[in-house]
Amino acid sequence: MPGQQMKFQKVIQWTVAIMIMTMPAAAGQETPGAQDNPFFSPYKTPLNTPPFDLIKLPHFLPAIKEGIRRHQAEIDTIVDNPAAPAFANTVGTLDESGLFLAEVNAVFGVLQGADTNAEIQAIAKETAPLLAAHGDNIRLNEKLFRRVKAVYDQRASLKLSPEERFLLENTYRDFVRGGALLDEQKKSRLRELNRELSLLSLRFGDNLLAETNDFKLVIDNREDLAGLPSSVVAMAEATARQLNMTGRWVFTLQVPSMTPFLQYSTRRELREKLHRAYFMRGDQGNAHDNKDIVRQIVNLRCERANLLGYPSHAGYVLELNMAKKPQAVDSFLKRLWDPALTRARAELADMQAIADREGGRFTLASWDWWYYAEKLRQEKYALDDAALRPYFKLDNVRQGIFTLCDRLYGLKFIQRQDIPVYNPEVQVFEVHEADGRYVGLLYMDFFPRASKRGGAWSGALRRQYYAAGKRVAPLSTITCNFTRPTADAPSLLSVDEVETFFHEFGHSLATLLSDGRYRDRSVPRDAVELPSQIMENWALEPDLLASYARHYQTGAVIPQELVDKLKKSSLFNQGFATVEYLAASILDMTWHELTRPEPGVDVDKFETRSMDSIHLIPEIVPRYRSTYFNHIFNGGYSAGYYVYIWAEQLDADAYEAFKEKGLFDKATALSFRKNILEKYGTLDLMTQYIAFRGAEPRIEPLLKRRGLMVP
Ligand SMILES: [Zn+2]
Repeated sequence: MPGQQMKFQKVIQWTVAIMIMTMPAAAGQETPGAQDNPFFSPYKTPLNTPPFDLIKLPHFLPAIKEGIRRHQAEIDTIVDNPAAPAFANTVGTLDESGLFLAEVNAVFGVLQGADTNAEIQAIAKETAPLLAAHGDNIRLNEKLFRRVKAVYDQRASLKLSPEERFLLENTYRDFVRGGALLDEQKKSRLRELNRELSLLSLRFGDNLLAETNDFKLVIDNREDLAGLPSSVVAMAEATARQLNMTGRWVFTLQVPSMTPFLQYSTRRELREKLHRAYFMRGDQGNAHDNKDIVRQIVNLRCERANLLGYPSHAGYVLELNMAKKPQAVDSFLKRLWDPALTRARAELADMQAIADREGGRFTLASWDWWYYAEKLRQEKYALDDAALRPYFKLDNVRQGIFTLCDRLYGLKFIQRQDIPVYNPEVQVFEVHEADGRYVGLLYMDFFPRASKRGGAWSGALRRQYYAAGKRVAPLSTITCNFTRPTADAPSLLSVDEVETFFHEFGHSLATLLSDGRYRDRSVPRDAVELPSQIMENWALEPDLLASYARHYQTGAVIPQELVDKLKKSSLFNQGFATVEYLAASILDMTWHELTRPEPGVDVDKFETRSMDSIHLIPEIVPRYRSTYFNHIFNGGYSAGYYVYIWAEQLDADAYEAFKEKGLFDKATALSFRKNILEKYGTLDLMTQYIAFRGAEPRIEPLLKRRGLMVP
């Protein structure tokens, strides 16, 4: 199912550790223009939120430069401390350093993802190498490392709390992974590699955004709208109006626009045109071609891994994950691949039969999949996407999630109109415990814009920690590309969009409910999707549906008959969804398991070889081809696209606990909150998981859920 793409598009920004509280300007420091730069004085906003009404783009560059300077000064203070290295004066103080920079970066990062423009892209190009160099200056600071190592070496005798010990071990490991044990010559090469990689990633992302925005399928002939439901036509009409093409209809490469066209349009040649434009992004030999960038990125990553003593980039990345080794990921994916491909072939045969029966004298191609899958769905389950949407008005879905959070964790949500936002479409909610204590804020930004990157993700303008014993409240963000309201109807979500909303909300809960003493968090990448994916399980539970899935016009609760059909069709097209996802995961692993750089590698041929080796059928394109695989070339998911299905093993197993004790069982929810959400990234995750579940996760609930059990 096309929309299923979204489920895996979610990107979460753990990469930028992001926190602050108030930031008084350093005494005696004069920075040019500091008096009108809102970053340089304490915020005068409600709940100490970023003053988006005052922040202007020219404020970022001086603030980031000043942040780097202050952070470096804080590091120097640690290094020059005449006292012997101890946990508090070294590891603890290091954790406290860099607040100012983290705050500015967090605000900038949110704009970069959700409201970008040429000026922001230019600032990022200027700051990326500065920040990469700054990171290296810390990780490659020998005196600092010597102090950290001195503490690390005496860790057994220090009587540390579990959280302190976890922080110490991670801090030490970060230095080693950052090159602290290398000789001078290798350190300097490492700096070059990091700098080049930071710039290449940005160029990859900029090219992709341009390629996505450049193409438009413009229709000026009503007959070419054949098959499209009126809501889809209305959306295309609204898009045309926005682009000053009133009277015509425009479809774009953004998923909410493209997918319904592929699902319903009877114009096969137009489906081909649109889908081809989508899967050829970055591979057209034009100014925005990404092939050469991909080639350089994989080679530089490989060289960096070799330099640090790892056989491959995948080996370097996976050391930190629950999977530990590339081989563990490869065999996990392989175990899923064969049954998934078998299912996809069966789905294809069913669809080809429909095409043949209708007299189509052709073999199905990739641009036919959505169209015939939709027919098959209506035939087999009499279930129509357009019939479901009226029950999933965005506001109602949001209320449903609030209800769920109340039933599980007692949380309350109150909308705030007085918090400054970066775009008028952003909604802000204040979150409270059952007893009224303030938890944090949630910023939600729902609809596509040309200034926003695709997909959906959750991030933070500030993460939780304790400053001088006082809890600093987190500011969480959710950014989506959901179906926009039209002139006639409010935003009505597809079932996939509903699940995406629940998913991102799960990430936000992990941000909001976390309760760690320190700022540094270390969540294994393949467990990052546990809090998010477990939330998806509740989305279509009849008990919860009854509370929120109401028809936007009549207010009637979604009929039981529709719910039953939804349940029955839950395995529908899972072969396709699993195969296109696994193919991309395998492509990612193949790129990053290179053990030596291959400067002459041909990107298209490499990709074809990788896909041929697993016998991918031509009717399915990997969910992401190399030239638009933003997750792995610009998003921090390199050798890590597999994590969604790895985490599905965790969430399917964890949800079993709720099935056993009751879906809204307060004690089970409390245990999940205490063991997983609150301790996320501050203690060893497997230990915490076992504390919640009583055992390590099993794969069977996942296989069952996806219909991949071999009988
Ligand atoms: Zn996610």
